[in-house]
Amino acid sequence: MADSRQSFVIERNTAPVGVAERAKLLADPGFGRVFTDHMALIRYSEGKGWHDASITARKPLMLDPAAAVLHYAQEIFEGLKAYKTADGGMAMFRPDANARRFRQSAQRLAMAELPEELFIESIRQLVAIDKDWFPTVEGGSLYIRPFMFANEVFLGVKPSSEYLYLVILSPVGGYFKSGAPAVSIWVSQNYTRAAPGGTGAAKCGGNYASSLVAQAEASKHGCDQVVFLDAAEHKWVEELGGMNVFFVFEDGSLQTPPLSGTILPGITRDSLMTLARSEGLTVREEPYSFDQWRTDAASGKLTECFACGTAAVVTPIGRVASPEGEFKMGAGGPGQTTMRIKQRLVDIQRGVAPDPHGWVHKLG
Ligand SMILES: *Cc1c(COP(=O)(O)O)cnc(C)c1O
Repeated sequence: MADSRQSFVIERNTAPVGVAERAKLLADPGFGRVFTDHMALIRYSEGKGWHDASITARKPLMLDPAAAVLHYAQEIFEGLKAYKTADGGMAMFRPDANARRFRQSAQRLAMAELPEELFIESIRQLVAIDKDWFPTVEGGSLYIRPFMFANEVFLGVKPSSEYLYLVILSPVGGYFKSGAPAVSIWVSQNYTRAAPGGTGAAKCGGNYASSLVAQAEASKHGCDQVVFLDAAEHKWVEELGGMNVFFVFEDGSLQTPPLSGTILPGITRDSLMTLARSEGLTVREEPYSFDQWRTDAASGKLTECFACGTAAVVTPIGRVASPEGEFKMGAGGPGQTTMRIKQRLVDIQRGVAPDPHGWVHKLG
């Protein structure tokens, strides 16, 4: 029976990407299309527990066509980043929070729970071996993607007795293709993301699968992203497909929808609330309706709006469109509070500013 202190077998990639090729990739990595030389893998089976932890060459997986994940989508993931810090070191941002959320997602999807220390250790080991893969572009980082899926060979509908946990790394530059200062969003009227009692608070691939048709609708209407309303009343703003949302008012206060079980508890969301409150700003976790949003934008009571998540950090929302028409936020560009709070977060992440909350986890 393995435990959380098990050691990782390390098998170095014997054919890593060449130095010149890597340098070329790292100069303009984009988002999620460049990968490093290695991956972490740990197996779970009922009775044996977690075992066979390894760091190996990144390579295709062999899956039986009856592997449960391919049929019933028992799959969860995480997303966090490693950064080069101002002192030349490497650090991760709040990996303990991701480890905890990964366990909570596993619970919701009836999957085996990976011990939090093992989650963090797998990342430490992997980043150590691929430390030459940090992007050289301004604002670049190493995006870390831990994930786990059901691997039992069985078509019966039940929680799998076997799981594979993996971590892959992707050097990234900016998230949005346009690199636009503010994004446009489409308010979905036809689709919802999560219903009460559903999986909205779990970070599972299934939530994303069901959001894609709404995202496609947004693109068709010339918008960058989709924002979902609640499933019960189609009235309350919940979140984007993969980002939480904040509203900034003329009195300087902030508001974000509460964690009601249908919203993903973002770590960026939590961090920004802490930072805003430490600046003396009022932050409300209260429902906000789409009607109110439109009214407040028109009256000038609402001055800024932004989306947040690990991948894009803080993204100003400049334009909001729905079948009834569209409206602009402020001047349609990034707001002052949005940019200030973003900078505060980024400065802590990069080790430029002090870290009073103990969020930065040094690597190497
Ligand atoms: C991951 C995710 C977020 C953002 O969470 P962070 O921890 O801030 O990266 C928000 N919404 C959804 C649906 C997500 O999957």
